[in-house]
Amino acid sequence: MAECLFCAIVAGEIPATTVLETDRILAFRDINPQAPTHVLVIPKKHYPDAAALAAADPGLLGEMITAAYRVAAAEGVAETGYRLVFNTGAQAGQTVWHVHAHVLGGRDLAWPPG
Ligand code: AMP
Ligand code: ZN
Repeated sequence: MAECLFCAIVAGEIPATTVLETDRILAFRDINPQAPTHVLVIPKKHYPDAAALAAADPGLLGEMITAAYRVAAAEGVAETGYRLVFNTGAQAGQTVWHVHAHVLGGRDLAWPPG
């Protein structure tokens, strides 16, 4: 079993509801959705956060954002709007230390959050 939760999902050791997969990216539904569309987009390779990924492989970060758009389009929220969130660091609420983009949509998303 992989030590990292999302590495375990990539390895198929923990089930997830996949919505998009490429050679380097996996997107699956968040287990605790905060909006009608709440999908997590991750690189299959482990990087702890967005800053580490940007430093190591900015092209892969771009692939994540392209994948997020494809998820939003498939979910029918690309036109109405969607939010991409990279929680980066403990005070920002990051709890899983494998970089992930939250794709949120399907309702009015007030900002700033409460
Ligand atoms: P963050 O707080 O930005 O690190 O986000 C981690 C996200 O992972 C949270 O929104 C959780 O609901 C979600 N999560 C935790 N475990 C799972 C799981 N097994 N499958 C899908 N999503 C998960
Ligand atoms: Zn990982």
